Amino acid sequence: MSKPDGTTARAGSCLCKGVKLQITGDPFTFVVCHCQNCQKASGTAFLSNMFFKDKNVLITEGSDLIKRYDDSNTASGRTLGRHFCSNCGSTLFIRPSLEASNNDFVIVQASTVDDSYNWKPRKELHTDSKWDWIDVHVKPKEVKL
Ligand SMILES: [Zn+2]
Ligand SMILES: [Zn+2]
Repeated sequence: MSKPDGTTARAGSCLCKGVKLQITGDPFTFVVCHCQNCQKASGTAFLSNMFFKDKNVLITEGSDLIKRYDDSNTASGRTLGRHFCSNCGSTLFIRPSLEASNNDFVIVQASTVDDSYNWKPRKELHTDSKWDWIDVHVKPKEVKL
């Protein structure tokens, strides 16, 4: 969906579709995170983290279904709010501060975004805990964000 100012609004959701989001514009960065916490949260090898300005991510349905896990055992030492759907368990997004008003950005999991895009990750983080059978193709020069 194209907005009057020319930006694109994309739909986002969880597996059960109980939670719906509207994500406007492009991420300002996009990274693959191989830390053990992202592995646990994803159920597999990594999370694909898309960073958006907080004002560009709106919860349009199901905010009552969203639960937050305060992840204090992080590599950075900073407590992250990992948000997920309490009905289906899908990981949705991460807020870097538990004070809602302190967040100028939100980290949306790639699996949350429903509509098509051509963004690609520009960086891999925590490759020390990357699983050895994972071959991620990150081509930073091709990414224009
Ligand atoms: Zn759900
Ligand atoms: Zn991580």
